[in-house]
Amino acid sequence: MSVLKGKKILLAVTGSIAVYKTPHLVRLLVKQGAEVKVITTAAAATLVSPLALQTVSKNPVLQSISEDSHWNNHVALAYWADLILIAPLSANSLAQLAQGLCNNLLHAVYLSAKSPIAFAPAMDADMWQHPAVKQNFEILKDRKNHYYIPVESGELASGLIGEGRMAEPENILDWLEHFFSSYKKETTPRRKALVTAGPTYELLDPVRFIGNFSTGKMGIALAEALVEQGFEVFLICGPNVGSFPENNFIQRINVVSALEMKQEVEKVFPDCSIAVMAAAVADFRPATTAEQKIKKGAATTMDIQLVKNPDILKGLGEQKKEGQVVVGFALETESELEHAQAKLQKKNADYIALNSLRQAGAGFGTDTNKITLLAKDGSIQNWDLDTKTAIAKKMINFILKKENLIHE
Ligand code: C5P
Repeated sequence: MSVLKGKKILLAVTGSIAVYKTPHLVRLLVKQGAEVKVITTAAAATLVSPLALQTVSKNPVLQSISEDSHWNNHVALAYWADLILIAPLSANSLAQLAQGLCNNLLHAVYLSAKSPIAFAPAMDADMWQHPAVKQNFEILKDRKNHYYIPVESGELASGLIGEGRMAEPENILDWLEHFFSSYKKETTPRRKALVTAGPTYELLDPVRFIGNFSTGKMGIALAEALVEQGFEVFLICGPNVGSFPENNFIQRINVVSALEMKQEVEKVFPDCSIAVMAAAVADFRPATTAEQKIKKGAATTMDIQLVKNPDILKGLGEQKKEGQVVVGFALETESELEHAQAKLQKKNADYIALNSLRQAGAGFGTDTNKITLLAKDGSIQNWDLDTKTAIAKKMINFILKKENLIHE
């Protein structure tokens, strides 16, 4: 049986050409047993027949706060919904919702909402890239209980090819099914996790740094695996960490140096049940950072004095409270197991994930990894080479199970 059976979905349709897909979307939802009511803006009603939407939803389609002598109760409509689905969301309506305007029924319903709000933008590629649209999008996305259904790429009504198409109705349906199967869990707040990813850059001057080749791929995969297990993740990223698919449960925090990383880690750690330190933190930083670009001058050699960075993982090992789990990584080139074992003790970590640079396919920048997981109780797991995504899931699921941290 579909998770959508019996769900009350209020479809709010705004004026983008993608509205031609909405009767099909309603049909798909109704087929899964959802109860659908549709409201539209005036612009949307000129682009799609309200009669078609009324027929497929089996409910009257509403557009104005008052129709003839009848007042459409926006509060009752908003409260009726288990979810408000705004699809398509035009650039104009996006701006109005971001600003909290209230000059049509759709706005009034939006402002009265208690349910989650999922929104599927649709517009031309150039509009979607416009800074004004981006700003409005960020405002909406960051609002509590708002969920973004990603735009798709392809041919647009203008003839341009690019990003900005409304997600296909079948994909919206998949998204909703996925949402409702995990949303039940949201009645209890998600536990929090902290993951560090990528390198740190230690500045010599405004344009030069000491860094390493880490790309943060393993950290991203670990954060995604934690979200899948019901966590909300603070993902603290060093520079040069790429983007990853939009995720409502990952809060990305960007830092540059080890000192900045330490500061951000310590802000969020007290609230976290688990910290996974996958970042390749520089052990040393230049003793001073020149304010201006260093000139080469006449000298043929140059000395850089380095000072030791604080060990962030060790700091967490010292501060952790009962019930907090701390996981570190070790990238070794020789005597791997011994070194990793020593790290586990020295840093008071609960687990150390060991990668060996001698293993082909493991380490910086690759999409695969090979990990040996050492636990503080002395047990050792040896996992085969696999994709970073698969290894991250294996590792997170193993640790959460062992620590009784699996979300019910
Ligand atoms: O001692 P080593 O650098 O090999 O330890 C690696 C582990 O320690 C990784 O989990 C890394 O994120 C963490 N680390 C840290 N702060 C440092 C150096 C390493 O948190 N300054």
